[in-house]
Amino acid sequence: MNAEIVCVGTELLLGETLNTHGAFLSERLAAYGIDVYHHVTVGDNQGRLEDALRVASRRATLVVVTGGLGPTGDDLTREAIAAVTGRPLVLKEEVLAAIEQWFAERGRTMAPGNRKQALFPEGSHVLPNPNGTAPGFVLEWAPGRWFVALPGPPRELRPMVDGPLRPFLERWAGGRARLVKRVLRIAGLGESEVEDRLADLFARQGEVTMATYARAGEVHLRLATKASGAEASSRLDALAAEIRRRLGVHVYGEDDESLEAVVGRLLRERRESLAVAESCTGGRVADRLTNVPGSSEYFTAGVVAYANQAKVLSLAVSPHELTAHGAVSAQVARAMAAGVRRIYGTHWGLATTGIAGPGGGTPEKPVGTVYVAVEGPGVGRVERHRWRGDRDTVKERSAQAALFLLYRALSGQA
Ligand code: ATP
Ligand code: MG
Repeated sequence: MNAEIVCVGTELLLGETLNTHGAFLSERLAAYGIDVYHHVTVGDNQGRLEDALRVASRRATLVVVTGGLGPTGDDLTREAIAAVTGRPLVLKEEVLAAIEQWFAERGRTMAPGNRKQALFPEGSHVLPNPNGTAPGFVLEWAPGRWFVALPGPPRELRPMVDGPLRPFLERWAGGRARLVKRVLRIAGLGESEVEDRLADLFARQGEVTMATYARAGEVHLRLATKASGAEASSRLDALAAEIRRRLGVHVYGEDDESLEAVVGRLLRERRESLAVAESCTGGRVADRLTNVPGSSEYFTAGVVAYANQAKVLSLAVSPHELTAHGAVSAQVARAMAAGVRRIYGTHWGLATTGIAGPGGGTPEKPVGTVYVAVEGPGVGRVERHRWRGDRDTVKERSAQAALFLLYRALSGQA
C-alpha cells in the first residue's frame, strides 16, 4: 500500500492558509508503515481537482483528500471523487438526520446546502465528524484501491484521523512494521555540536535512523525504527542510552515533555518552591512555567523588574551593587535571584538580566549579553551568555538558558 495526499483549497495556493494537513497526515501514515509518495495541492476547481484525483488514483493505492466537504458551491470533493470513480452520489438518510439534529441542538436553521453533506459516492463508509457538520468517508472504489475524504478544518480532521479512520489505518498497515519514534530533547548545545558529538552514530545509522531539528533554544533528536513494539523499544533504548552517555545533562527529556514541564516535575518530586525575577525576559520564564498544568504546586511568584528602581524596590537589590556593576552583571543577576528567593521564602530563586537590543550595547557588554542566575539550597550559580539575533530571539534564548540552569541545579549537575 502506498499513499498520496491531495489537499484541496484555493486559500492554500494563495498562501493564505498554511497547509498543515500534509505534514499531519504524512506523520500518521508513516506511523502505520504506509509510504507516502506524493503531496498535491489543488484549488477549488472541479476540472483541476478531478485531474489531480485521476492522477493520484492511478499511482497510489490510497488517496487521502482533505477539504472541500462543506456545504457551499466551491466545496467539490465529493462530486469530484464520484466523477473519477464512476460511483454516483447517494443520500444517506441517517446522516441527513444527524446533520439536521446538529443544527437543531444549536438552535440554528439548516441551510439547503448542508443537505449535500449527506451525499456520498455509492459504497462509501461514513466517517462521523464530532466537531462539525461535514462527515468524511472511505471508499474502496476498486479492489485494494481506496479514497479517503476528510474535512478541511484541522480541529475536525485531526480527531477523525485518530478516531473513526483508525480501524482502517490498522487494517491497511496489516502486519507491516510500524515506524516507532522517540525524540530526545537537548538544551545548551547547538545542532552542529550535537551532530559533531554523535558523528560516528550518524555515519553508521542502520536499523534506527537519526535526525536533528533545531527548535527555539534547543535541539530535538529524532530516533526512528521500523519494528514491532518490543523490538522497537529495545533498539531505541539502546541508542538513547548511548546518546545520553555522550551528551550527559544536555538531554533533559523525551518526546513531548518541555523543559518547563521537566523542571516542574523535579520541583514537585522534591516538594520545593520557586520564585522568578526577570528583567530582559519580561515574564517569559514565568509564562512558560505557568503553562504547565499544576504549576501552582511549586511556582510561587514571578517579578518583572525592568528599571533599576524596580530591582531595588521589588527585589531588594542594593543600589550600590547596581552602580558598581551595572544592571547587566553577574552580581546583579545573583542579587535578583537571592532577593526574590528571600522575599517570597521559596527554596529556589531564578533570575535573568541582559541587553535584548537592538540598542543599548557597549563594547564590554554588547547586545545579546545576558546573565542568568539561580540560588537554592546549597547552590548559587550565575552564567553569562551572548546571543545573536533579534530582540525576540534574545528573550527566548535567555528564558531557555534560565530554565536549563535551574534544571541542572535541580538535578544536581549545575
Ligand atoms: P467547511 O465545512 O468548513 O467548509 P471543508 O471540508 O469544505 O469544510 P474547506 O472549506 O476546504 O473545508 O476548508 C475549511 C478551512 O479549513 C479553511 O478555511 C482552512 O482554514 C482550513 N484548512 C483547509 N485545508 C487545510 C490544510 N490543508 N491545512 C490547514 N488548514 C486547512
Ligand atoms: Mg469549505
